[in-house]
Amino acid sequence: MPELPEVETVKNALRHDIIGKKIKSIDVYYGKIIKNVTIDEFKNLLVDEEFINIHRIGKHLIFELTKYYFVAHLRMEGKYFLMHDEEISKHDHIIFNFYDGSNLRYNDVRKFGTIYLYDKIKYRSIDDLKDLYPLNKVGLEPFDDKMNVQYLKDKFKDLKKSSIKQALLDQSIIAGLGNIYVDEVLYLSKLHPEIKANLLNDEELKLIIDSSIKVLNKAINLGGTTIRSFQSSHEISGRFQNELNVHTKEKCPCNHDVVKIRVGGRGTYFCPVCQKNNKKEGIQ
Ligand SMILES: [Zn+2]
Repeated sequence: MPELPEVETVKNALRHDIIGKKIKSIDVYYGKIIKNVTIDEFKNLLVDEEFINIHRIGKHLIFELTKYYFVAHLRMEGKYFLMHDEEISKHDHIIFNFYDGSNLRYNDVRKFGTIYLYDKIKYRSIDDLKDLYPLNKVGLEPFDDKMNVQYLKDKFKDLKKSSIKQALLDQSIIAGLGNIYVDEVLYLSKLHPEIKANLLNDEELKLIIDSSIKVLNKAINLGGTTIRSFQSSHEISGRFQNELNVHTKEKCPCNHDVVKIRVGGRGTYFCPVCQKNNKKEGIQ
């Protein structure tokens, strides 16, 4: 599943590919991806619209057109490809045909991706969109000015049973950390993944924020992580997998054996020496 750094990589590739292109027509082969308008509305409203910019909030891409925005989530395996006259694949579900003869295809083997269309007259800025579903369910990114120890404390206070691993995966609390990056953040923070989130002190919460920024920035700079199903458009390969400390590793950088357990149903890698569980009551 693409995480924040991979979505950022896709955003940058798409900015390069489609900004300035004007839509001549749209073909929809699998309409369930379009959520809040009918397929005909989607096809008709976007004719003659030009791609002006592409933004990212958490793992959502926001395509800014002349009069509309559409908010897209890639979910498990969604990909956008800029194509010309290549044969249409059975996994190409939506095709935006441009006046210049090229086309943008939304390809999704699992069909879990989503698209929501919003009118720019009603919602004038990206900030307005943050009040609407699905962006209103997105928590703060670690880089956000409003992200701080108090914010995490308030959010974690109500999580009586959640481990820190589960809490960090919750996109409504921190946006953009998925399974790979949470393992890496907890390693850098020297925190055991099963410690209960509500038991963390200020210093530990601060460490989580700082480590999250460090891990995500590094991953963004390296184009994300190419692991299992993820490939960004253009077949760009991320290089962050070469920098992983514990996720999928046998040894941590200090040469201890990495252990794999399941936390909240997710495969979790950690170093039992570097990440001691110092809050035993946290073990579920
Ligand atoms: Zn270690």
